[in-house]
Amino acid sequence: MPDHSTVAGVPVDTRHWIGGRRVASAATFTDHSPIDGRALAEIARGGQAEADAAVAAATAAFPAWAATPRTDRADLLHAIADGVEARLEELAAVETADNGALLRSHRRGVMPRVAHNFRFFADWLRTLGHPDFDTRGHRNRVSWDPAGPCVLITPWNAPLMLASWKLAPALAAGNTVVLKPAEWSPLTASLLADIAADAGLPPGVLNVVQGLGAEAGSALVAHPDVRRISFTGSVPTARRIAAAAADRLTPLSLELGGKSPLLVFADADLDLAVDLAVGQYDNAGQVCLAATRLLVESSVAEEFTRRFAERAAALVQGDPREEATDIGPTIHERQLEKIDGFVRRALDAGATAVLGGHRGDGQYYAPTLLTGVAQDSEIVQEEVFGPVLTLQTFTTEDEAVALANGTRFGLAATLATGDPERAERVTGRLSAGTVWVNCFFVRDLRAPFGGSRQSGVGREGGTWSFDFYCDVKNTVTAPKGWHDHG
Ligand code: NAD
Repeated sequence: MPDHSTVAGVPVDTRHWIGGRRVASAATFTDHSPIDGRALAEIARGGQAEADAAVAAATAAFPAWAATPRTDRADLLHAIADGVEARLEELAAVETADNGALLRSHRRGVMPRVAHNFRFFADWLRTLGHPDFDTRGHRNRVSWDPAGPCVLITPWNAPLMLASWKLAPALAAGNTVVLKPAEWSPLTASLLADIAADAGLPPGVLNVVQGLGAEAGSALVAHPDVRRISFTGSVPTARRIAAAAADRLTPLSLELGGKSPLLVFADADLDLAVDLAVGQYDNAGQVCLAATRLLVESSVAEEFTRRFAERAAALVQGDPREEATDIGPTIHERQLEKIDGFVRRALDAGATAVLGGHRGDGQYYAPTLLTGVAQDSEIVQEEVFGPVLTLQTFTTEDEAVALANGTRFGLAATLATGDPERAERVTGRLSAGTVWVNCFFVRDLRAPFGGSRQSGVGREGGTWSFDFYCDVKNTVTAPKGWHDHG
């Protein structure tokens, strides 16, 4: 097997990165581009042996990294961010070839955000703390001790963005990590290993194991020396990981799927509401936070649907490397079949396709809007993870809230309303980790991020990330001479 592949003009090492060395596997798997189905690379296919080696490397590197002064760790994270910025164009081009998301988003939004993730958590480390407090003269001091080797498992829809969001706080806190990227988008994780090594991160602090979930992933999460597992992906995989973690009660962070609502009230700015709704086709609908259920007040539903269909029909679907493209391909033929299955079953059950409802050419799915769907139907209850939206109507605020909360998920919710009091009332009743009012996808790393119900366990962002990646400790110290007088 060759050690490298050239993707979008960039040489990418196709082996694992373990203990500061490139390591091959006897077996490989083929990574394809969703843009044209072309084989991009033969990637090392890790299993138990590579998982063991990576956790051993992370365990060996842990004491020295945990003892490295915070400021030095922060400086190294800033150096990684510098490396990401220096190679931003390459990272963007490789990510687009690998997962099919828009090149312009990778260049202008996603990759700058990757660098920002490292900088943010490096800086947050400086302020991490809790004021000491006193109990009958005894001083209470709270500290955040690094937990040990962490396993980070990420999905394909935003590979480097999600990996860096976990890596940055885990490393800043003084942990060592093993990252397993998704098998449908493994490439930028390998470039990041190069960047981290160039930045001077000591061997074994960051390890990357490539491979399939059922092989490399399951071996990593079951490893007895792992102290934290952070997972972003689907609910069924989360159940398997939680079962593996249960044996040793390894703490878990789970960022999972969603079926989030966009509630459009009659008092909303309808143009804004239509904008928000059409925006849900971003990344061909492969966004965990996407508001895929449009819930529209009956009195404006007809007008909303007309304007939505007009706007959505103008979206350009095609090659994600083109500046004019709005919607790219679906990640994989298997995902495309899954999406089509959901839509065909919905149509068979009586839904109407106001827009789309079928596959496009190649690995593209036509942006779709379905009406006439029942709340308890599969298309309303299950995450499709493609450019497929449903539209339901309501007449009262109570009905809107019931529909919005009427799934097993609770990742996010978006409201379009011109009435601030209504916004506050409804927000208070919604089951969601994030609520956006008259906006969407405004994200700040200081804010908690995560899902309610089956959309996840725990929160990431700011101190919440450090709380997860650390063993938080309280030290109680008696006043001097306390024993003599006590
Ligand atoms: P997935 O669950 O199929 O895979 C995610 C990762 O888990 C991959 O790296 C995979 O190799 C690994 N994996 C699979 N089986 C495993 C096992 N038994 N043990 C350990 N690891 C295993 O998810 P996906 O299809 O890659 O991603 C899409 C899903 O991710 C959607 O449900 C989406 O909503 C969710 N997602 C959630 C967020 C969030 O922040 N809440 C963000 C992005 C994506």
